[in-house]
Amino acid sequence: MKVWVIAELKEGELRRVSLEAVAKATELGDADVLELHSDERASALAGATALAERARAGAPDLILVGATPAGRDLAARLAAKLGWTYLSECAELRIEDGQAVAVRSMYAGKVRATVSGTLPAVVSVRAGIAQVADAAPPRPGSVQVAPSGEGLEFVRFEETKTTGTRVPLGEARVVVSGGRGLKGPENWKLVQDLADVLGAALGASRAVTDAGWRPNEEQVGQTGKTVTPDLYIALGISGAIQHLAGMSSSKVIVAVNKDPDADLLKIADYAVVADLFEFVPAFTEELRKVVARD
Ligand SMILES: Cc1cc2nc3c(=O)[nH]c(=O)nc-3n(C[C@H](O)[C@H](O)[C@H](O)COP(=O)(O)OP(=O)(O)OC[C@H]3O[C@@H](n4cnc5c(N)ncnc54)[C@H](O)[C@@H]3O)c2cc1C
Repeated sequence: MKVWVIAELKEGELRRVSLEAVAKATELGDADVLELHSDERASALAGATALAERARAGAPDLILVGATPAGRDLAARLAAKLGWTYLSECAELRIEDGQAVAVRSMYAGKVRATVSGTLPAVVSVRAGIAQVADAAPPRPGSVQVAPSGEGLEFVRFEETKTTGTRVPLGEARVVVSGGRGLKGPENWKLVQDLADVLGAALGASRAVTDAGWRPNEEQVGQTGKTVTPDLYIALGISGAIQHLAGMSSSKVIVAVNKDPDADLLKIADYAVVADLFEFVPAFTEELRKVVARD
């Protein structure tokens, strides 16, 4: 079983979802990592044309791409050019009787559908598709995949948009998100301070991004980003189904809400019924002490 992974870089670093795709590819068969050479993500079109040519020649059984905005774009174009099966945004993937069988969320996470298609296939995979070590992602060229070396070839595509110095939301192991309960952008320091102590990425509900309190790229949910961190902390977010669609696969969920009936508290591992304006500064301070001690 010959598997190619199209690895994506952001600001020179391999994306975590690409590393997970490599881990998955290694589990499924012989993995080759390809990195698409291009300075601009805009070249998904040119990239798809070049990759389709290589794929026809190299004949992999499966091509995995991280389901980032750029990755989804590239994967769909590539599958269309090749006329292969295309399975998008898959949370699980296995090969059965010569078919790619995948599980994907539909209808804002209400339904988990099992979909399948004959090989060869192009599959875009979501963060969480496989476990990778928590060590800092290696630089391009240093990814170790089996089999060692032979035919390892790099084609790279890079997303140029930057979200500043914080960990990108889609790859963060810890996310701190704020909702309308924060009352206004002037109170975001509470979210940022907590995120700083934890080295977390910032997230937000759509109520917040629609109100312009925070940039759209921080929105978590059905029409925002899907995140699967080890820890997701939600401050003043009610837990609408569209928000849950983007974060309910997080390993540990902490929700702070003054309303004991808030939906997010029902799925939280740690449900804190409290006024966030009292709880969050005290919590951040305590965490700061713990971090300083360690
Ligand atoms: C097609 C569609 C797509 C959507 N996509 C998304 C999406 O991708 N992501 C998303 O998030 N939403 C999405 N939404 C919107 C979603 O339905 C909700 O409206 C939104 O998530 C609500 O945001 P919120 O929880 O911040 O606000 P609210 O629902 O207003 O909740 C605020 C919460 O803060 C609590 N609170 C208030 N004050 C305090 C305090 N002092 N201390 C503690 N808690 C407090 C309240 O009890 C309440 O639970 C979508 C909607 C539609 C129709």
